[in-house]
Amino acid sequence: MPEDRLLIVPGHGGPDRGACANDIEEAAYVLQTARLLRSALIRGGYPRLWVTLGREVDDEPFGLYKRARIARREDVDMVLSLHLDAAVYDRDRSGMMAYNYPGNNRMFEVGRQVIRAAPEGLRSMDNVSRETNPYQWPRAHKLLGTYHCDALLVEMGFVTNPVDAKLLLDMGVRDALVAALVVGVCHWRRLRSANRQGSNGQHQGADHKDSLH
Ligand SMILES: [Zn+2]
Repeated sequence: MPEDRLLIVPGHGGPDRGACANDIEEAAYVLQTARLLRSALIRGGYPRLWVTLGREVDDEPFGLYKRARIARREDVDMVLSLHLDAAVYDRDRSGMMAYNYPGNNRMFEVGRQVIRAAPEGLRSMDNVSRETNPYQWPRAHKLLGTYHCDALLVEMGFVTNPVDAKLLLDMGVRDALVAALVVGVCHWRRLRSANRQGSNGQHQGADHKDSLH
């Protein structure tokens, strides 16, 4: 059985601190979360799962294409990009969102599973798994489009919403958030394995990642 190779990419970094409000600095928060997720996956002892981080330290400057190069160099099968959202002019907006590149049904499903498993307070009514499009979410669309493989962008909550911010800073909620991401990774592996088995006759288990986008 081949390995499943996962790259966890904490967004921003270096001088780019991302969204900052209510005592949360996105760049630092997503790096911590990425480390916690890697630890949880290693602790889980999942066989044939290889995990690495897109950046290890907080002073590394952000670079979209650098992350894409790492993904190619390490020949990863999935990129999980972690971010926090901000809506400066609408502080009521809240909750987690997952985005996938248009046409990648597998990652749409993975996004749904992550949102479904999300901690209760961060799972609001309009929480959905979404396909990006270049008009509504140009940055997410561009980010996901730089990767050659399965990719999911998870916005874990709104730093500009006081309730979300309080939840995000709660260690119990953070653990539950990490657990929801683990659920997503496990679901991705199941779908991938089913896809491999389903295509065994015709393609000898060939991976379809190049046809996804
Ligand atoms: Zn961000």
